[in-house]
Amino acid sequence: MAKVFIDPGHNYSGADTGAAGFGLKEQDISVLVAQRLKPMLEKNGFSVRMSREKITDVVAGGLSASLSGRAQAANDWGADIFISIHCNAANTKAYGCETYCVSTGGNAGKLARLVQNHMPDETGRYDRGVKTANFAVLTRTSMPAILVETAFIDNYDDNKFLASSSGREKCAAAICKGVCEYFGVEYNSESEEELMSKEYDELKAKNDSQDKIINEIGVDIQSNKNDIDGIKNSLKRYDYVDENMPAWAVPTITKLVTKGFLKGDENGKLNLTEDQLRLYTVNDRAGLYGE
Ligand SMILES: [Zn+2]
Repeated sequence: MAKVFIDPGHNYSGADTGAAGFGLKEQDISVLVAQRLKPMLEKNGFSVRMSREKITDVVAGGLSASLSGRAQAANDWGADIFISIHCNAANTKAYGCETYCVSTGGNAGKLARLVQNHMPDETGRYDRGVKTANFAVLTRTSMPAILVETAFIDNYDDNKFLASSSGREKCAAAICKGVCEYFGVEYNSESEEELMSKEYDELKAKNDSQDKIINEIGVDIQSNKNDIDGIKNSLKRYDYVDENMPAWAVPTITKLVTKGFLKGDENGKLNLTEDQLRLYTVNDRAGLYGE
């Protein structure tokens, strides 16, 4: 079971607090995204540890100790990958998502690309791509490490996105998908929305199969009806030259009755099948019974 270390960026208070915008704090958002990401990763079979479990958690007092503490915890645990979660901030105009690694060449670069590939599609944020930087948490970790800047907390639209639980859920899903791809694991999601659509698909499949059975029974009933009609037709008898007899047979049968070739039973019933009507008619046309 691969070990994923999640580092919700910054501290609740003291040194190493994060950026802020429109009343939101980066150190809170990073934990909220991580709290969604952890169960998603666990659902996909990963073992997960976090540098901060709760919004009020603080890793260490000073800035350098805070950054080293995160890297050290991941190193001590023997994590396979390290993911630091942050919100960006600039001049209120910049927006979008980006993912950092120390170098794009190695496994960290691969992980950064896989995660960043999902971020814009999943979150609807502008794609700022994969970037390199020597952030302390990326250089002090001994496993492939990335830092995800989910969106700009000081940009109005990005901030609204980060403030919504659905937005944070999407950030977590994008990261989870990238991690699954990195380890070659098929992504398995069970968000409420996707569960509902799964339920719908299952119901629809059930419905479709019932429709199919009903259609097949319908076809059976129709073919049985055709068989019965065929049997009825083959059993049908023509006793008299009347409106029941096919018009094409009437001249021949009339002639045969008139000439006394056909007499019928004691009650005068001819008891002819349709096949017999055909045979007499064909013979008559061939001249067998004269004029
Ligand atoms: Zn940050």
